[in-house]
Amino acid sequence: MMPTDFPPAALPALLPLSERPRLLIVDDQPINIQALHQLFQADHEVFMATSGEQALAFCRDNPLPDLILLDVVMPGMDGIEVCRRLKADAALADIPIIFVTARSEPAEETRALEAGGVDFIAKPVNPAVVRARVRTHLTLKAQSDLLRSLVFVDGLTGVANRRRFDEALRDEWQHCRRAGTALTLLMIDIDHFKRYNDRYGHLVGDACLKRIAAVLQAGLRRACDVVARYGGEEFACLLPECDQPAGRAKAGELCAAVAALDIPHADSPTAQRVTLSVGVATLRPNGVNDPTALVAAADAALYEAKRAGRNRVVASD
Ligand code: GH3
Ligand code: MG
Ligand code: MG
Repeated sequence: MMPTDFPPAALPALLPLSERPRLLIVDDQPINIQALHQLFQADHEVFMATSGEQALAFCRDNPLPDLILLDVVMPGMDGIEVCRRLKADAALADIPIIFVTARSEPAEETRALEAGGVDFIAKPVNPAVVRARVRTHLTLKAQSDLLRSLVFVDGLTGVANRRRFDEALRDEWQHCRRAGTALTLLMIDIDHFKRYNDRYGHLVGDACLKRIAAVLQAGLRRACDVVARYGGEEFACLLPECDQPAGRAKAGELCAAVAALDIPHADSPTAQRVTLSVGVATLRPNGVNDPTALVAAADAALYEAKRAGRNRVVASD
């Protein structure tokens, strides 16, 4: 599905694209879509769907809309059912939905709100009212997105934090169990980082942590891979559907990428630059083992890498 191209096509954007909220308008009557389109096109990116099925397909196949204006009465799948299906899909459940309908009896309104809508607007829409309500719900959505990102992102490095890692480990464990595939965990610890801080100061230490986090993040290219700050100078990389040889190879690449930064570490007994030790563990989730076994195995391998002289990758059997 394409952005609506009527009426006047492609007005110059008044705001940078990222600041133009994405609105999906769903209505079986093109005349209704047109009215809402005119109201929002100047400062929103507007998309349209003329059936419930189209609306669901749009949400699944495109970057998520920030808000949906959803007609209740449509032939085929009605708005209530569309809303229920969106709410049942974890990836789509957070999109705020405002119902727009000609049927404004309290029972109808209740049904819409119970299905998961955030608001209910009567047709014919009053332009000022619909604009104000859309603005309110976009603001609330932006605030909850921000809170969510603060809860799950490490403040110093910008990668996932420990809380997010624990959640991802739980989710990917289940995913790999269902798919019957391997899950690999890399536990990464910076070598002699206490001496680095002692020599160069804590602020330079912080900058070093940021650079290493960025290199780890850039080195993991699949969308399902997660790099997290696990603790002070420890990072964890979770690699779903990745077997042990591939995990070991990835760990080697990450060490090489950090070595290529060539961050001086004059007091390191291991090398003249900042280096990593990495423990690799791989498990096939089944009904018997559990995620803590994966973390314990990666920790043990990391310990072994340290003991064997640092600046190396050790994989557990
Ligand atoms: P090893 O090679 O055995 O890992 O030695 P190490 O010195 O890296 O290990 P140790 O656990 O003794 O010290 C970790 C150091 O990491 C100590 C701490 O000051 C530093 N560190 C932890 N979090 C931060 C942080 O947020 N910023 C900075 N600059 N340093 C941190
Ligand atoms: Mg450590
Ligand atoms: Mg260390």
